[in-house]
Amino acid sequence: MSCLLHSLQLKALLLHSFVLFHASSFSWCLSPTNPTLSPHANLTTDFGRIIYNYPNEAFQPQSPQDISQLLKSISSSPNRNNVTVAARGVGHSTYGQAQALNGIVIGMRSLTPYIQIGEAQLVASKNSTFYVDAGGGALWIEVLKETMKHGLTPRSWTDYLYLTVGGTLSNAGISGQAYKYGPQIANVMEVDVVTGKGDIVTCSEMENSDLFYGVLGGLGQFGIITRARIVLEPAPRRVKWARVPYDDFNQFTADEEQLIKLGDVNYLEGFITFKDNSPSNVYYTLEFAIYYNDEGDAQKTLDRVLSQLNFSMSMPNITDVSYFDFLNRVKAEEESLRKKGLWEVPHPWLTLFVPRNQIGRFKDLLLRTTLEANTPIAGPIIIYPTLKDKWNQNMSAVLPQANSEENVFYAVSVLRSSPPSCTPGSPCLESFLNQNQKIIEVATAEPTTNKATATVDATARKTKTPMSHPRAEIIQKTESMRMEVRTEAGDEGGMGAKQYLPYYKDQNGWRLHFGEKWGRFEELKSRFDPLNILAPGQRIFQRKP
Ligand code: FAD
Repeated sequence: MSCLLHSLQLKALLLHSFVLFHASSFSWCLSPTNPTLSPHANLTTDFGRIIYNYPNEAFQPQSPQDISQLLKSISSSPNRNNVTVAARGVGHSTYGQAQALNGIVIGMRSLTPYIQIGEAQLVASKNSTFYVDAGGGALWIEVLKETMKHGLTPRSWTDYLYLTVGGTLSNAGISGQAYKYGPQIANVMEVDVVTGKGDIVTCSEMENSDLFYGVLGGLGQFGIITRARIVLEPAPRRVKWARVPYDDFNQFTADEEQLIKLGDVNYLEGFITFKDNSPSNVYYTLEFAIYYNDEGDAQKTLDRVLSQLNFSMSMPNITDVSYFDFLNRVKAEEESLRKKGLWEVPHPWLTLFVPRNQIGRFKDLLLRTTLEANTPIAGPIIIYPTLKDKWNQNMSAVLPQANSEENVFYAVSVLRSSPPSCTPGSPCLESFLNQNQKIIEVATAEPTTNKATATVDATARKTKTPMSHPRAEIIQKTESMRMEVRTEAGDEGGMGAKQYLPYYKDQNGWRLHFGEKWGRFEELKSRFDPLNILAPGQRIFQRKP
């Protein structure tokens, strides 16, 4: 069947209020006309290539009103009472989060990615700031290119820019700038959302704030983001980009923490690397960037920063690149992996937020688990500290130890690529997933001495919930699950870490993940998506008839 035929069918269908057609034809036709999607992108896979839940239909909206009509028609139609809907950015999730088994997948790239610059007042400071309005399906690279035409740039990024605005804001959006400017969700002034009921709502800290806080980090559960207003600042011209090697983990993390305390660098991350592919032989690299317009000032800052560090191995590697090339640095990795046929392979990724006081134990757990399995990790292991007070805890994103005084926590990403032969169900992929699971179980269990657990437990006890009350059952269930994971984690207990880009098989895992935020999350779901239509691939809520 030719693409022309599809487009004629498309025109006919457009006479109806929205466009529905089958997933296979969607991907076939979309790729040649839209160079920003990979030629192999389609609506049934994701970057993970581990879970394949096929939808029945794909939907290509032209406007938020199309999405609204779709959701309204599903909510009110008795013969569609089991249909679920997943917004799909570019499917860069790794565990089927943007999929909808037998449901409808919305290709968010088909929305106009309108990107417009404006100026407004910030609520907190009352200062005026430039902002960009970007469509939910716009890629961050598109936002960067457009804002740079005006000499402006967003402040907070992801490492890779070929992700959608709506997709990263549904998680958090983190990179080495987050310690200074917070995650991407902390840099949003306003969003337009189509709720699960089909209502189109504009929300901000001042207007419909429950929905605003809910959707930011809300895993697509309450509504589909069709526009986000993002804070901008003047774009620097160039970047001094430094990599500093260490052989001692404690020194490496001490220096990372020193840099975020000083706040002189605009970006800070770090890596664990295996020498000779052996987890028993590792070194660490601290990576930082200084943005600049004036070479002399940048050199002074660089010298000052280096003088604060206690590296003992070889000399730091410093390069000088354009701001655009620095932000777009992962694209080169993608191209190199594509050439080797190692991009479109299974990606059993693992990302955790680990409390500062557990980061040494976590590193040991990661290396021990990898050593025991005798399979070195192919892909980067990223590890850097960031600051809790740069996050807005009203938002849905979950951080470790919500009640602790400690402001620093670590983001750790184990970005493993499988050999192409490790297909779903194969022993090698299962082994990687089991290693991840082992790490998750120990890391996310509460430490035996964790004050946060004690506080949650004490609050639960104080409510004196009658034992017949459903909440009492939840508390009992949660406590017995905690006991189980503590046993797994050994005498020291767990680490109180939280998964980022989380994946749980059922709701019990999610309850533990959200902890004291669970009640609010559930309440927002019942208000904005009462039939549980949205984002079924997250496996948090079951569709209600
Ligand atoms: P999808 O995978 O398509 O969707 C993710 C979830 O959000 C799904 O549940 C979906 O239903 C929902 N969703 C999608 N669009 C919308 C919308 N408009 N409104 C509401 N819900 C929506 N993350 C970081 O934070 N930092 C990084 O540095 C980083 N680097 C990455 C590098 C690579 C190579 C890859 C593959 C991923 C990386 N990620 C990173 C993870 C990325 O943030 C997530 O995959 C995220 O989901 C964005 O991908 P996406 O836009 O394709 O969203």
